[in-house]
Amino acid sequence: MTQTLTPDVLVVGGGPGGYPAAIRAGQLGLDTVLVEADRLGGTCLIRGCIPSKAVIHAASEYSHMAKAATLASPMGISLSAPPNLDYAAMTGWKDGIVDNLSNGVAGLLKAAKVKTINGWAKFSNAKTCTVSTPDGEILIQPKNVILACGSHETEIPGFEFDGDRILSSRHVLDLTDLPTSIGIIGAGYIGLELGFALSKLGSAVTFIEAAKNILPGYDAELTRPVASSLKQHDIELLLGAKAKSVESFSNGVDLKIETAEGEQQTLSFDKVLVAVGRKPAIEGWGVETMGIDMDSRFIKVDDRCQTSMSGVFAIGDLVGEPMLAHKATAQGECVAEIISGKKRRFAPVAIPSVCFTDPEIVSVGLSPEQAKREHGDVMISKFPFAASGRAMAMDASDSKGFVRIIARQNDHVVLGIQAVGAHVAELSGEFVLALEMGAVLEDLAQTIHAHPTLSEAGAEAALAALGHPIHIAQRG
Ligand code: FAD
Repeated sequence: MTQTLTPDVLVVGGGPGGYPAAIRAGQLGLDTVLVEADRLGGTCLIRGCIPSKAVIHAASEYSHMAKAATLASPMGISLSAPPNLDYAAMTGWKDGIVDNLSNGVAGLLKAAKVKTINGWAKFSNAKTCTVSTPDGEILIQPKNVILACGSHETEIPGFEFDGDRILSSRHVLDLTDLPTSIGIIGAGYIGLELGFALSKLGSAVTFIEAAKNILPGYDAELTRPVASSLKQHDIELLLGAKAKSVESFSNGVDLKIETAEGEQQTLSFDKVLVAVGRKPAIEGWGVETMGIDMDSRFIKVDDRCQTSMSGVFAIGDLVGEPMLAHKATAQGECVAEIISGKKRRFAPVAIPSVCFTDPEIVSVGLSPEQAKREHGDVMISKFPFAASGRAMAMDASDSKGFVRIIARQNDHVVLGIQAVGAHVAELSGEFVLALEMGAVLEDLAQTIHAHPTLSEAGAEAALAALGHPIHIAQRG
């Protein structure tokens, strides 16, 4: 017999958009049901942000040790034998973190009195949804719907994922053996993060990127230190090159490519990773029956994340760029509060983006070019980590890293802050808070930053913009 539920809120998708939306709705006393077909945590927790950062960390640990076995360290640390890598054990350690966090999400949902259903949700109209579960069908007729179905890896014709030779990012994260060599199609942040990690673990890595630069979306000043680090890691970067077809699978993958000069070449790899972006998951759950407007391939929403259908909201990767976990979470919390009757809009001043490459990049707000276009006269200043005591003490001062601040000339309002360097991801909180609070250069410069920390570089960059930095000599 079909069970029928009539909750205040139905959330479809238990990723970083859906589960915080459900928790907040539950906290606000709304009768809330969350449906997730897979494991709680979504792309981010199960096959994205968290497992990738675990592998990146393990790879860095391994490569530091491997270096200590071959090179004399200025710190006086050496190893008499190279470290061993048990790749399957590393994958198991990463899986343990994912399991812990996914179980934690289940506990948090329970504590917020959210009913969680494991099954596939399918709509027959905007407010009628059937969930297929192993125990039968459940009919849900909610007052409000929050769609948080996320996104999938984009495939390219001729390079369909098979999980064996042609891999997506999720396949790479689940490998139990290190590929001897890997060709990575696409040098965006997902490909680069995984490429650095695999290279540090010992794979021979080659990027095939059709664009002229790595990391589209970040300006050249930010990506240059990452590009030179690729060279230092012996990672081959073929820019302006197109992957044309798979010639053969007889011995790994023989990939036919066209170089920037128009030359046809065949490159052989153990595995190929296709990392050319993600697309919203809009198939198979009845979006076409809901009468909601689309914005190209994304679901169209207003500044309350409401679709064209009253009481139907959409959040996260389903509604467009940036396709990032923290944006999805912020939208989820916002929508739950709107449904509960609070006055909210999703109108952030800035959403930080971080590349966990080597070195890391963090970017918040406008780039110099965007700031000039939108605001006219701007002040731009940089403080290099080469002048930071903390960076030196962490052996992180030689990556050509820096913090850069862009402010409006007439009132010194900070429009953008970016940084490149080791560990700079952790600076993103201060940067985005500054923009969200409407900080001016003087706010950053006169805030007392703990010494010695990398965060001092942000204050020094603000001082430099004001013309009186302390730890770099003034020119002129
Ligand atoms: P998802 O996390 O995709 O969750 C959607 C959920 O909905 C899924 O669990 C799916 O099973 C479920 N679902 C879909 N349809 C149905 C249905 N009909 N019925 C039931 N369940 C359904 N972002 C960052 O901010 N920082 C990072 O460092 C970062 N690193 C990443 C690394 C990798 C390798 C990848 C792939 C992504 C990374 N991302 C990162 C992106 C981030 O994972 C996504 O932006 C984020 O997960 C989107 O959240 P979401 O809630 O919109 O959707």
